[in-house]
Amino acid sequence: MAAGQVDELRKRVNDDWERIVELLKQKIALGSVSSKGIAADHMKRSAQFVADELIKVGVDAKVVQSTNPDGSAGAWEVIGSKIVNEQAPTVLLYAHHDVQPVPDASQWDTDPFVGTEIDGRLYGRGSADDGGGIAIHSGALQALGDDLPVNIKVFIEGEEEMGSPSFIPFIESHREEFDSDVIIVADSGNWSADIPSLTTSLRGNTTLDVTVSVLGHPVHSGQFGGPILDANTLAAMLISSLYDEHGDVIVPGVASQEVVGGLQRDLDEASVRADAAVEPTYTMAGTGSLAERLWTKPSITVIGMDVHPVEGSFNVIANQTRIRLSMRTAPGQKPQEAQQALAKYLVENAPFGAKVEVTPLDNGMGWAMDPDAEATQDALQAMKEAFGVDPVNKGEGGSIPFIPELQRIFPQAQVLVTGPEDPKANAHSPNESISLSGLRNNVIAEALLLSKLGGE
Ligand SMILES: [Zn+2]
Repeated sequence: MAAGQVDELRKRVNDDWERIVELLKQKIALGSVSSKGIAADHMKRSAQFVADELIKVGVDAKVVQSTNPDGSAGAWEVIGSKIVNEQAPTVLLYAHHDVQPVPDASQWDTDPFVGTEIDGRLYGRGSADDGGGIAIHSGALQALGDDLPVNIKVFIEGEEEMGSPSFIPFIESHREEFDSDVIIVADSGNWSADIPSLTTSLRGNTTLDVTVSVLGHPVHSGQFGGPILDANTLAAMLISSLYDEHGDVIVPGVASQEVVGGLQRDLDEASVRADAAVEPTYTMAGTGSLAERLWTKPSITVIGMDVHPVEGSFNVIANQTRIRLSMRTAPGQKPQEAQQALAKYLVENAPFGAKVEVTPLDNGMGWAMDPDAEATQDALQAMKEAFGVDPVNKGEGGSIPFIPELQRIFPQAQVLVTGPEDPKANAHSPNESISLSGLRNNVIAEALLLSKLGGE
């Protein structure tokens, strides 16, 4: 396949379309909610279904139960391979078969566990996240059939929505099965159903507790108020010293970076404001594009504060306040490094010399794609050909913890983050859905990408 490759693949995907949609509907009906027990029978059935579907498209797939770090029985994972030629590059296809729970089915317009087509979208829990990822891999492998020019390894995880507790030990004990040149993680999404995207970066995160002390014990505000500021006010001053007048974080050693691979299109401020229900008078903090402020610059949030409740408060100067800070870090910075820089700054900038103590807590790595890698260029070209428009890449302000872990364990592999979602997908929320036209183009794009990675 070379000339007319897209047309040929599109034709094959169209011929296979009913099977792909049926796969997705059956997957939704399985109700693979991992929070009901990752080691439970319903998760084993879900894994077996996925393995059987992969076998149908030529993958030698099987179900394996992982072991949690504490030695207990873990998730039902699907692993497999299709080796076509020892000399060819190897691509690991990732998705997850577990889904988010449905706490209140009455918030749905359709039955969450019955795949229902309405106006070009298929509704159901896991239709997009990440049944869509499984459908993309299955459809792409079926479309290529015997024309597949790369070796394939597959890992369909069973506990992603639970934070992947046994992910690291599982991968480390199956290194051979996952070792690859390119890893395609089909668990993110596109700019819109019509505009494809690679996800270029994820921010890291770090948390720390800060205790601000000013007195050995609380005292009367009438007697001592004035020269002695209360610990709450001092903590507020300390927090506000993290920003300049524009609202940019100014902590030395906490890195900012530009949008990975360059900004192709900025986010629309009106939509961001509407999505977050921002007060109309509020001015967005920080400088630079909205995209870099949300994806690649650091942000610091006070997520907890121990102060006296308003109800029942009295005229006392608080002697001590504790706050918990959560910081999103630039994709390329080690979160430990940012954590240390923030801790140092907090201690050194104690207002009026109050006593500031910092307890460092958890760190999670960020991740940045290599925009210049050949695999990246192949992916962008494949997306452009399949969707008929230029891709618009995007970052993620949050984290997908297993991606930096995969990159850490397989540092030589190019990780490409694609996926079935679009802004209307409502993953993790009621009325989750997948765009069927978007899915079709995603399948074609992945088939083309595998073809290109094989040098065709
Ligand atoms: Zn997911």
